[in-house]
Amino acid sequence: MPVPAFRVGEGHDTHRTISGRPLVLGGVLISNAPFGLDGHSDADVLLHAIIDALLGATGRGDIGEWFPNTSPTWKGADSTMLLKAVVDTLYAEHWSLINLDCTIHAEQPRMGSWKPQIRQRLAELLSVSIEQINVKAKSGEKVGPVGRGESLSADAVVLMSRQIPPKP
Ligand SMILES: [Zn+2]
Repeated sequence: MPVPAFRVGEGHDTHRTISGRPLVLGGVLISNAPFGLDGHSDADVLLHAIIDALLGATGRGDIGEWFPNTSPTWKGADSTMLLKAVVDTLYAEHWSLINLDCTIHAEQPRMGSWKPQIRQRLAELLSVSIEQINVKAKSGEKVGPVGRGESLSADAVVLMSRQIPPKP
């Protein structure tokens, strides 16, 4: 059966907040954050959600299968490298990204002023134009783990297409 021309994928991730670590979201260092995120890698919760969305759309499993958090290889890993490994693989298989929409859930810091920079960085990391990327941010309304500042989470949705080159 031929592969459908378009595939949608979703991703979600959560990390606990922890003091003494830098906060990195979408590959951007959020310099005014009072805390970072706990995790095996750099805990870039947004990139992890995006990686899962890309893998989901293309039927390639999930981030834990690609980069096990029990592996010393990925301890402290720069998540932009994880994203690059996934993107390089998918693009080499003739997948392309139509658009990415994502949401950061954080009580603090307020993400509004960071959204343009994150959007730009995501376009670079995914090798697409900035019009193909949208970044949203929501507070936790002071309730739940996000609202109490215990965690940050992120959601991502992508639309991918695949063009199989004609045989010569
Ligand atoms: Zn994660």
